[in-house]
Amino acid sequence: MNVVESLSEMHTIAVHLRTEGKSIGFVPTMGFLHPGHVSLVEKARKENDIVIVSIFVNPPQFGPQEDFEAYPRDMERDRTLLESFTDYLFCPGTFHMYRPDEKIGFHIDDLNKVLCGFFRPGHFEGVLRVLAKFFHLVVPHRVYLGQKDFQQTVVVRRMVEDLFFDLTMIVCPTMRESDGLAMSSRNVYLSLEQRKKAPCLYGALRLGLYFLLKEEKNSQVIIRHMRDFLERKGIDRIDYLDLRRARDLGEVKRVESDPVVLAGAIWLGSTRLIDNLLFDPYEA
Ligand code: AMP
Repeated sequence: MNVVESLSEMHTIAVHLRTEGKSIGFVPTMGFLHPGHVSLVEKARKENDIVIVSIFVNPPQFGPQEDFEAYPRDMERDRTLLESFTDYLFCPGTFHMYRPDEKIGFHIDDLNKVLCGFFRPGHFEGVLRVLAKFFHLVVPHRVYLGQKDFQQTVVVRRMVEDLFFDLTMIVCPTMRESDGLAMSSRNVYLSLEQRKKAPCLYGALRLGLYFLLKEEKNSQVIIRHMRDFLERKGIDRIDYLDLRRARDLGEVKRVESDPVVLAGAIWLGSTRLIDNLLFDPYEA
């Protein structure tokens, strides 16, 4: 595995690989890797000649009150983990990725008014900013993202379509702990007691899915059941529990033919957990 820090070096390598006819799979991450990340890298390995993984904790996607400084980092462990199945580990410095006088940013419309977009102002603009840069530098054929961050996949897909990025996005299933908790780098923040409670978010989403499978169509009824469940489990801070059209996160009053996503964000102490489940009425 080659470790590349320089932007121009990464770009030169990637362009050279493409001219040699090699396919490039790209997995962008913020590091502190867990099996969820590894599942993306493994899929990229199977489907491409070359695998590039980035590790970059991206300041613009963190709000001023968020955990940028405290975000867990362990580059040595990540390197060891990736060594055997990654061709290039790209870990640029912040000063190289962002010039101090940058003047161009992203504007996201309705996709940003719901779910995490509403509760984390500026977050997805920051995500698009870094991914647009990465896509230009790495020129990947395929980009691997996790369903765990479902809204991110919807927003990034729109950027790829609207800005004509010539790449295919591949969304990989959420990897979970044995009790259902979605794996996340932030899970290390949880105390023992919080860790015991944490799977209840998945439990609430599963309950929502149960009602969908029982052909409950009224989204408000489903959301109410999920919320009651979390309140019974003692969760007192819920950013949102929602049911939205999967394609564009549009409002759903009644679940009819469109695939939908059940999504939630809760706080356990100072740790924010997110999770989601998809439901396609035609596959039920
Ligand atoms: P992050 O390092 O948190 O920015 O995540 C990097 C990529 O890994 C994103 O595309 C995430 O959606 C994906 N990811 C994070 N957690 C999981 C998980 N539990 N299962 C699958 N993919 C994940």
